[in-house]
Order: sequence, then structure tokens, then C-alpha cells
Amino acid sequence: MSTLALLGGDPVRTAPFPAYKVIGEEEKAAVNAVLDSGVLSRFLGTWHPDFFGGPEVQEFEKEWAAISGTKHAISVNSCTSGLYAAVGALGCGPGDEVICSPYTMIASATAAIAFNAVPVFADIDPETYGISAATIAPRITGRTKAIIVVHIFGQPADMDPIMELARRHGIRVIEDCAQVPLATYKGRPVGSLGDVGVFSLNYHKHIHTGEGGMCTTNDDDIAERLQLIRNHAEAVVEKKGVKNLANMIGFNFRLGEIEAAIGRAQLKKAPALIARRKANVRHLETALAGVPGLTMPKVGPAGDHVYYVHAMSYDAKATGVSRETFVKAVKAELPPTGLREHEGVLMGMGYVKPIYLAPMYRELAGYGEVGCPFLCPHYKGKPDYRLGLCPNAEDAHFNRVVTHEMMRPPMTGPDLDDVARAFHKVAENLPALRAHDHANAPTAEKR
Ligand SMILES: *Cc1c(COP(=O)(O)O)cnc(C)c1O
Repeated sequence: MSTLALLGGDPVRTAPFPAYKVIGEEEKAAVNAVLDSGVLSRFLGTWHPDFFGGPEVQEFEKEWAAISGTKHAISVNSCTSGLYAAVGALGCGPGDEVICSPYTMIASATAAIAFNAVPVFADIDPETYGISAATIAPRITGRTKAIIVVHIFGQPADMDPIMELARRHGIRVIEDCAQVPLATYKGRPVGSLGDVGVFSLNYHKHIHTGEGGMCTTNDDDIAERLQLIRNHAEAVVEKKGVKNLANMIGFNFRLGEIEAAIGRAQLKKAPALIARRKANVRHLETALAGVPGLTMPKVGPAGDHVYYVHAMSYDAKATGVSRETFVKAVKAELPPTGLREHEGVLMGMGYVKPIYLAPMYRELAGYGEVGCPFLCPHYKGKPDYRLGLCPNAEDAHFNRVVTHEMMRPPMTGPDLDDVARAFHKVAENLPALRAHDHANAPTAEKR
């Protein structure tokens, strides 16, 4: 039995893992064509044919609508922008509540605040980590205007019961699809299940354009409102003959021609990149069999998972070793990934701290110095962001979840075997780690 790297031994591997780089010759050619054209964006913020953007933007939207099975796709310069636009397009405003997940990238809840609505957090399902009809139902009030469902970690949430519940109450649904491009729910594409879907094209996602995003919808009215909010609505509504002026406060959320051209090349590669991730997870999960205390992510009712991250559940009672020490020990055995060396080994405890524990929520500090929208006179509810609000999310984050990104392309079988070897080596050395834990009582993450 060899000594753990954490305790002074040699690590399993020192050569960096292959760089996470999905950009190649196709993207270069696409960018050069745009540069040669000299038109890097063709958007005009007035009612004019160029209100809809240039040729790359419009083609990219057509192609995205086709893969999403939706009537419309509206590109934006980030998923965050898209979520803001979606909340506005659905008419959320002062006095309204938007039900959100606490366990996601923070923008999935901030979007509600962007139009002065108040986020209300529903707990997550402990096995699939997304909000569910069962956790959403008790949070519905007469003020609930919309639900932002996040398909978290790569797995679509259980949408049929959520849509049934929402329709029964006349509530709109936004799907945050940032982590699930091309994923399906019971065979249907994500982004086509709710009223609006929003995708991310930032550098860390399955495919990317550096920064970028895409909204999808089957509703003509919502599509028009998304286009307006994307591009200076207040300057356009008069000539366009738009009658409903609620939330017609425009931003500049426009995607450039270069990004759109890169996106079109990326979209062609997406099926192969996602298939590679799935195959890598299968390989890794087989190789990890027998490591005590680890439970692999479950695929729930969606029947699909595109593995944005690989979120395992760790049971410290089963090993007698704290999660902190276990993760540190595995990380010490492995190298960082090329191009992302500065991030260290792409593995960590939990994901993002439950959102309602962020200072903005704990201190009800929103717009200006008067705590809007939380303390806005139009809001008749009582904001609730106390520790303990969502026990499943808190347990997942503070105690159980171990995430890593080592299943990303271009990782291959031999790389993943090294990852598994690190886990097995740690498993063989649990007694030494128990002694280590005993000597260095772990510090809990500050809440
Ligand atoms: C990445 C991400 C976002 C934000 O995407 P940007 O394009 O960076 O704005 C939103 N929601 C989730 C779930 C994400 O993972």
C-alpha cells in the first residue's frame, strides 16, 4: 500500500490532464469570414430590419430553434441576460414572487430581482438536486408569478409534474438550461418544456462562444418581448406598435456576429462532445465501483443526463473520514487540467452555497438603500432567507456533495483510470486519514 500524497507520498499522476479546449479550425474559419465581412454586429436599437441583428445571429437562432424543437430562439450575450429578459418578458414585477432553486449558479435567482420581483426558494430533491413539484407546491402563494426551474448539473428536472402544477395555478415557467444543452426530458428537448428556456454559452459550458446565451420559446408574444428587452425596447415600442408596455425597459443584451459564428460551429460539435462526456462518465463510474462512501449521481425521471459536472454523494459515516479530508486527499493525488491550471484540480466540496445565504438576501439589500424589492411597499409577502430554509440543499452543499469536472472532453479512458486510481488509493488509506482527521479537527465552512 503506497503512502498518500496528502501524507507525503508520491501522487498517482503529475502530468497535467489534457486541456479543456473545444475551439478549433472550424471556429477560426467562421471568425475569419466575419472579420473579412467587416460587419461585427448589425443590430440597430430602432424598429428597422436590423432590429433583429445580422446574418450570423439570425442563422444561429434558426439552427438553435431547430435543435430545441421550438418555434423561436433569441440569442443574447449571456445566460444571465437571457434570464433577466425572460423574467421581464413574462411580466414579473413589483409585488410578485418568483420561485427559484437555492442550489444553482446565483444568476438563476437574481433574474427575479432584475425586474423587482422577490425570489422565493423551494428546496431541492436530495437525489437529483433540482427543485420538484413536491418542493415547489408549498411555496406557491397568490403572489407567485413564475418559477425558474434549473436543470442542475446536467440533468433535466422532473418537468411534467412541475408544468401540471404551474398550469393549474396560472404560473409561468422558465427553464434555466445553462447546464443541459441538447439534453432531453422523456425524449423531449429541454428549452421546449416551459414557457421560456435559457441556455449559456460561457467558456465553462459544454459548448461556448466565450460569453453568450440563447432563449427559446414557442410563444410569439414572449419571443417579441424577449427581442424588445434584448434591444432597447423603450426606443422601439412606438414604431413597432407594441401595446403592452409593462417591462418594456430595454437593455443591450445583443450577441455579436463573431460569437454567433463561433456558436454555429460549436453547435455542430455539440452532439459528439456530449456523447464523449456520457461515455467518460460510464467509464469512470465503472472504475470507481467499490470506493466506500461514494454514491454516483442518479438519473431520474428525465431519463437523460449530460453531466455538466459529475456530482457524487459522499457519506462520511461510511468511511469515518470527513468530506474535507477525503476531497483533499484525492486532489493531492491528481494534476490540474491544461489551460485551467490556476483553478487547481477540478474537484470540490459541494457546489455553490445555497443562494439565500448570500449577503444580499440575509441583509435584504437590493436596490438603493431601501431594500427594494424585498421591503418594497408593493410586496405584501415576508421574505424568508433563514439558515435551515432548504434542508436538502444545505445538507447536499455542506455535508454530502462532491463535484468534479474530470469527465470533460478531451479526457479519455487512461486519464479517467488515473482519476479512479486516486480514489481507490484514498479508499485503501482510510485508517491513515481517520488518524489525520483526529489530529486536525476539520473546520466547517463558514455559513
Ligand atoms: C452558467 C450558468 C448561468 C449563467 O450563465 P452566463 O452565460 O455566464 O450568464 C446561469 N445558470 C446556470 C445554472 C449556470 O450554470
